[in-house]
Amino acid sequence: MHAVGIVAAAGSGLRLGADQPKALVPLSGRPLVCWAVDTLRAGGVAQVVVAVPASDREAFAAVLGSGVLLIDGGATRTASVRAALAVVGDADAVLVHDAARPLTPPDVVARVLSALAAGAPAVVPVLPVVDTVVVVEGEEITDAVPRATLRRVQTPQGFDRATLVAAYAALDDDAEFTDDAAVVRAAGHPVTTVAGDERAAKVTVAHDLALAELIARTTGERASPQAGGTSRLRGTATEERNEPGVEP
Ligand code: C5P
Repeated sequence: MHAVGIVAAAGSGLRLGADQPKALVPLSGRPLVCWAVDTLRAGGVAQVVVAVPASDREAFAAVLGSGVLLIDGGATRTASVRAALAVVGDADAVLVHDAARPLTPPDVVARVLSALAAGAPAVVPVLPVVDTVVVVEGEEITDAVPRATLRRVQTPQGFDRATLVAAYAALDDDAEFTDDAAVVRAAGHPVTTVAGDERAAKVTVAHDLALAELIARTTGERASPQAGGTSRLRGTATEERNEPGVEP
């Protein structure tokens, strides 16, 4: 199966408090986008397209080198992925990954690829919800949501290429979704799940980056390709929490 990776890296660094795009912010000395590209490659994706802010293309080219294809992202994540899809070519499958999830283990990529190879048209990594979830109106709790069937959705999300391209083509120009599974579901396709990993957490605010630094330092995640190739921790400390039907 020929799979192409898309890394959505065209967001700003606003919520992180950074004065540069979030994907260029360093983690253990390497920009987040480099970690994301390496994860896809280590998990079995040969070719990678990266959607970047148009005004920062040179900076991204400098850190990523010539092994990836850079394209100008859009004003929203949906627009960025749509632009990247236009250059994907005739791959069998497409994996869409957030640059903001730098410590995603390659195992997650491999699980997504396996499910695609087994025939699923759309696959997302998920984790259970461990907190109580409630509905608040004003400042008052008006309802509680049973959490047993709730899941947190991560990336990379994998798709049969033709299915994803058709789903994006069916969107209005200004449509905005927070992930690609939602686009495919809107087009009426089923989306299957595989186990995610806590280390695939998204870096959004400064606290998330501090946590990622700690994890990178204490769990043996590599600090640079030279320091450790593409090997990372295998297995997941959280897999046992992903057993179907097990209430966390
Ligand atoms: O903002 P947030 O972290 O939720 O964005 C998720 C991913 O989508 C990030 O990796 C970000 O760079 C990317 N993104 C994008 N184009 C945008 C906005 C976000 O590629 N216009």
